[in-house]
Amino acid sequence: MALLQIAEPGQSAAPHQHKLAVGIDLGTTNSLVATVKSGEAVTLPDTNGQHILPSVVRYLNCGRKDVGLLAREKAAEDPYNTIVSVKRLMGRGVEDVRALGSEAPYHFVAGENSMPYISTVAGEKSPVQVSADILSVLTARAEESLGGELVGAVITVPAYFDDAQRQATKDAATLANIKVLRLLNEPTAAAVAYGLDQKAEGVIAVYDLGGGTFDISILRLNKGVFEVLATGGDSALGGDDFDLALATWVASELGIDTDTLGSGLARYLTEKAREVKEALTASDTVSVSVAHGDARGELTVSRDQFNALIDKLVARTLRACKRTLKDSGVDVAEVQNVVMVGGSTRVPLVREKVSEFFGREPHIDIDPDRVVAIGAAIQADVLAGNKPDSDMLLLDVIPLSLGLETMGGLVEKLVHRNTAIPVGRAQEFTTYQDGQTAMVIHVLQGERELVDDCRSLARFVLRGIPPMAAGAAKIRVTFQVDADGLLSVSAKELSTGVESSIQVKPSYGLSDGEIAQMLQESFSLAQEDLEKRRLREQQVEADRLLVALEQAIEADGNELLTAEERDMLLSEMAQLVALRNGDDADAIEKGIVVLSNESDFFASRRMDHGIQQALQGHTIDEIEEKK
Ligand code: ADP
Ligand code: MG
Repeated sequence: MALLQIAEPGQSAAPHQHKLAVGIDLGTTNSLVATVKSGEAVTLPDTNGQHILPSVVRYLNCGRKDVGLLAREKAAEDPYNTIVSVKRLMGRGVEDVRALGSEAPYHFVAGENSMPYISTVAGEKSPVQVSADILSVLTARAEESLGGELVGAVITVPAYFDDAQRQATKDAATLANIKVLRLLNEPTAAAVAYGLDQKAEGVIAVYDLGGGTFDISILRLNKGVFEVLATGGDSALGGDDFDLALATWVASELGIDTDTLGSGLARYLTEKAREVKEALTASDTVSVSVAHGDARGELTVSRDQFNALIDKLVARTLRACKRTLKDSGVDVAEVQNVVMVGGSTRVPLVREKVSEFFGREPHIDIDPDRVVAIGAAIQADVLAGNKPDSDMLLLDVIPLSLGLETMGGLVEKLVHRNTAIPVGRAQEFTTYQDGQTAMVIHVLQGERELVDDCRSLARFVLRGIPPMAAGAAKIRVTFQVDADGLLSVSAKELSTGVESSIQVKPSYGLSDGEIAQMLQESFSLAQEDLEKRRLREQQVEADRLLVALEQAIEADGNELLTAEERDMLLSEMAQLVALRNGDDADAIEKGIVVLSNESDFFASRRMDHGIQQALQGHTIDEIEEKK
């Protein structure tokens, strides 16, 4: 039996105390927990020796729930109460979830902020709660096996996860009573597991083929910062598709009619297919025996036969790699390291094709199911302070730019995509109209120039700005992105100190497909966007001048202008309005110059008049005193 150590009073044992911290890979199909023990990162098994926990939760009506293998076995039998692939629902709205269609066959009810809830026998469950239930099992496992309380966890998320999806993941941890030391990008974690962060720099490709998703990430390591050059993949392609292809083939070989396949038999066959597929990774041939109702038979499957069935699927992943490399602007020859992640990269054909594609041997020494959890554990160990000498300062970057809406529906980016986090950025803005006392701060995420093409994250109002002339107020807006990639925004009017702020917590976010598409569009439409932006800017400028002149004419026109002067101004203004409504930015710019010149006399007259008015009835002394 191990003896407990007791520190002498007043003598803290702290310097030598090892803090318990874990890394958690919260996967779509499977989840794992890992920690650093005696300097080595290892995944932690449950009491049955199983390291992998299927990310499946089954709710039972007695208030009990099963998490993991037991739940997965009942998925076919009790589909509405057994939640699989909940990660696909994280940080999404009801609309986004409906768009998933048959991928998420649950009974959804819309909750607050259009959050989707899944109705089960144990009540309505949000995706965040379901994830929290998975996390709880993992941390309980860790605390039991490590014999103490955890100081915190590093939880991994896909690189393309947006603010809402990251926030949802963090909320799940909070609900499970876990302190999040850091949310870490999955590909970054995999690179860390291989110690690639210890190298000076270079381009790394992380090929992650899991159960239901394929992700390819191109990272560039530069002075300890992992920059995500591009992410791509297919959110509906993975080992499950291999199973399906094999199951369909087995059924037809055995003369089982696939059209009339009941869901029970279909489930049985895909489960069988998975066993065969996994066995084929180590053996050249595997025999199957099917015995389910009337469907019976025996068959031997060779690896070559299996390869022929999945060849097209593997080719699809390579096409995605090609596209993503193109997006990243990196040539395949520049990729120095290829890291394999995900259970499906065990399949020999996948390894072969990937090394052929990149022209180099991928890293496969660390178990591809565990590599993400292991990288997260290494990072958790550092963040918990167990490696005081370590100079490893691992930084991530934000995946999409963050900005504010400005006049004319334009987005002013404050924090650009791929900026290393944590980061704080501030910029001063001003009011558009005389006497404006409130300002809407509209926070957006995306690469495009126009508000309509970006995703709205949050809106809030700064009130209590003292009335001033347009352009006189100084409002400082600060964006703060913490180490997990979560954003808070504050706005402050500098002359009065009036302040308001929010933690940006959107109810749902973007799908990975949408992000990929937004990035794609921003690249291909960059030129067009710039022109649109210039046009909008000139239109805003023109409007500003027109509004100012209108107000001035209304206020002082009768007193300070002759009828001819007034008509002249109005007709000049009408000309600018016509230009402004067209789409020629240069013409508008010229028109603005013309109208400003033509109206200069009026502006100086108003100024003189204003000074005269201010002076009327006051002695010079009074004025001197006021100074
Ligand atoms: P996710 O990241 O989606 O949670 P994983 O990385 O755990 O998923 O991968 C799960 C997939 O890996 C499943 O489709 C499973 O069948 C497959 N897999 C696991 N082991 C093997 C193996 N030995 N050979 C082939 N495929 C495997
Ligand atoms: Mg995974």
